[in-house]
Amino acid sequence: MQFRDLQRQYQLQKPEIDAAMQQVAASSSFIMGPQVKALESDLATYVGVKHCLTCANGTDALTLALKAWGIGPGDAVFVPDFTFFSSAEVVALEGATPVFVDVKEETFNIDVNDLERAISATIAEGRLTPRVIITVDLFGLPADYTSIRRVADRYGLLVLEDGAQGFGGAFEGKRACSFGDISTTSFFPAKPLGCYGDGGAVFTDNDEWAALIDSYRVHGKGTFKYDNVRIGMNSRLDTLQAAILQVKFRAFRDEELDAVNKVADMYDEQLSSLSACLAVPVVPEGFLSSWAQYTIRLRNRETRDALQKYLKEHDIPSMVYYPKPMHLQTAFCHTVKEEMCPVATHLTDVVLSLPMHPYMHAEEVKAVCDAIRQFFD
Ligand SMILES: *Cc1c(COP(=O)(O)O)cnc(C)c1O
Repeated sequence: MQFRDLQRQYQLQKPEIDAAMQQVAASSSFIMGPQVKALESDLATYVGVKHCLTCANGTDALTLALKAWGIGPGDAVFVPDFTFFSSAEVVALEGATPVFVDVKEETFNIDVNDLERAISATIAEGRLTPRVIITVDLFGLPADYTSIRRVADRYGLLVLEDGAQGFGGAFEGKRACSFGDISTTSFFPAKPLGCYGDGGAVFTDNDEWAALIDSYRVHGKGTFKYDNVRIGMNSRLDTLQAAILQVKFRAFRDEELDAVNKVADMYDEQLSSLSACLAVPVVPEGFLSSWAQYTIRLRNRETRDALQKYLKEHDIPSMVYYPKPMHLQTAFCHTVKEEMCPVATHLTDVVLSLPMHPYMHAEEVKAVCDAIRQFFD
């Protein structure tokens, strides 16, 4: 059994994907070919924002947003403590300071009460200027944007939605990657919408920021390519990846998002009898997840580690996302207090992500759930 079966997906989409790749090879339009613009237009429409600008990966997408806003030394950027390293790495790379915020145990997403506490504490300390809240749609579930927006407005902060895992998710009819002042996603192969290498995108309704990001992604270009008006990056999406994504996006939109939610429903139902031993992921009322991960919570670290070992012995792969909170990462731990963010720290001990993808068969879900039940018996 595969944790995320990309091979099964390719076999089903092979004729279309192979044709798309051959078309790019035949055209030799490898950089910024017509497929890139066409994909950007399709994704912007789907998400419901004015501009989509693709780039080299999801980390660059976050960096491009921070550059457009001129975030740098002396600025505080609030980041959830339970996420992939990129969400905070980009802040430090721009010379700004990440301030880690605890998360909610049930949703894994940023805790708005702790966010407000962190903002107030930063203001009271007076060393840094609060500028941006980076929210993460962890494991496919959009963060609590109603409350986040209220806090952002109260303190005059910008919201940067890290939708690397969230593409396809929704809240009250609005799609993920439309909730931030700028939002980003990643097309890393294992993300909800993945390409065949690295890729990413930035989304915004703001014309001025879109124009800046378009410049930053091509060496700070001005009115033409060899007129460079600012220090930028080389961060474009290859035409080949755009052509693959055009095919994969149609399957994602028309079939995979529904299919992966059916897999989640099967897991929920079959694991419900084990509610004394484990907690299944919570999708609050009004939210839709795109299920980048299906992550259960066990009682403690010993049980989690023992279950993972048991599953491995039965050829069932599982992953611990994430084994370390941001504030304890070696790259950051000199700047922060050991005892902060207790919920995020606890989650690193008890989470376990199970095999999850739109092409999982009912028998496979059953095999995973049966093995978990046997473990507890
Ligand atoms: C994967 C990921 C990123 C980075 O995306 P890349 O395309 O790998 O650079 C950023 N944030 C989160 C939450 C991610 O999961």
